[in-house]
Amino acid sequence: GKVLVSGANGYVAVWVVRTLLEEGYSVRGAVRSPDKGKHLTELFASYGDKFELVIVPDITKEGAFDEAVKGVDAIEHTASPYHFQADDPAELIEPAVKGTVGILESARKYGKSIKRVVVTSSTAAVLNVAPTPQILDESNWNDQAVEEVTEKGRAASAAAKYRASKMLAERAAWDFVKKYKDEISWDLSVMNPPLVLGPTIHEVASADALNTSARMLHDALAKAEGLTGGGCWIDVRDLALAHVRALQKEEAGGERIIINAGAFSWQDWRAYSSTPPPASSKYQKGTPGAGKDAVHLLQYKNEKGIRILGIQYRSMEDTAADVIKEYEARG
Ligand code: NDP
Repeated sequence: GKVLVSGANGYVAVWVVRTLLEEGYSVRGAVRSPDKGKHLTELFASYGDKFELVIVPDITKEGAFDEAVKGVDAIEHTASPYHFQADDPAELIEPAVKGTVGILESARKYGKSIKRVVVTSSTAAVLNVAPTPQILDESNWNDQAVEEVTEKGRAASAAAKYRASKMLAERAAWDFVKKYKDEISWDLSVMNPPLVLGPTIHEVASADALNTSARMLHDALAKAEGLTGGGCWIDVRDLALAHVRALQKEEAGGERIIINAGAFSWQDWRAYSSTPPPASSKYQKGTPGAGKDAVHLLQYKNEKGIRILGIQYRSMEDTAADVIKEYEARG
């Protein structure tokens, strides 16, 4: 089958494309400009015509994906802004919501052969900020971020603006399939990952140009910055495999699924970085066990994802070793 991947040049998406190709799918990668597709064409050259590009200059425009969806069997919709620099929350919310609803609308109208659409949401659409530790699951929704942005607008926190964009986009997707259930040939599966970490294969000019999540880990390991606190995480390769399994497993249809390897404190990553670095490495050793007393305010259940998708998630130790290799290669 052929799969349309939106935002194909992004950190997560390039791994999704690669995993799809490895599993024998043909892939149509949607990017904003021919320039943004060059690296992909080179990276996947060995797959010949099993990889093709489609240019979608503005995902917020009505009908933006009308041509892109024609002839594909499934969609992986990953395109959405992930950064904390927005002043006006609409900078994040518009492309998140309109991009999601737009691709679903194009699939409804022109995606006659489509069987499943997978949307990359986030635990940003699940979480709630609370003063005491909590363990959340797929029944939780982040109305809190939407309320904050509605009340405060530009004055809302950067985190709330991003979280509201993911929450509103995911809710819009579920509303869409409910509204049009009698008119569509496909069902929806939503991936809700926490912080995505691990090696990069997308185009990264320098460490400073890393995408938001990979940069956080880089700064923690290489610069010893941002070492307080922590979160939950998943390796980008496991998340990519989850996106592919979500197409293959019947039971993934109609489900939102948390894809979570577990909780970390930034100190833990430093501890695991103590395994390989040679004396010449600038990636400093951490202190093993330094994060063990961390209180994790937010954790997520991951049983549903493991049951439906059947993936054994990578350990922090393996992911840390792989990213350090990458940093050392980049120099
Ligand atoms: P990247 O920034 O690496 O990729 C984002 C992708 O979305 C790029 O292809 C980008 O295109 C595209 N995009 C962003 N804004 C727009 C816009 N306004 N119009 C069109 N395309 C746009 O981020 P990630 O790979 O990390 O994120 C991929 C998805 O995963 C997102 O939906 C994100 O919310 C979600 N996610 C990521 C997590 C993480 O920790 N990384 C955690 C949870 C969810 P361009 O290069 O042209 O800007």
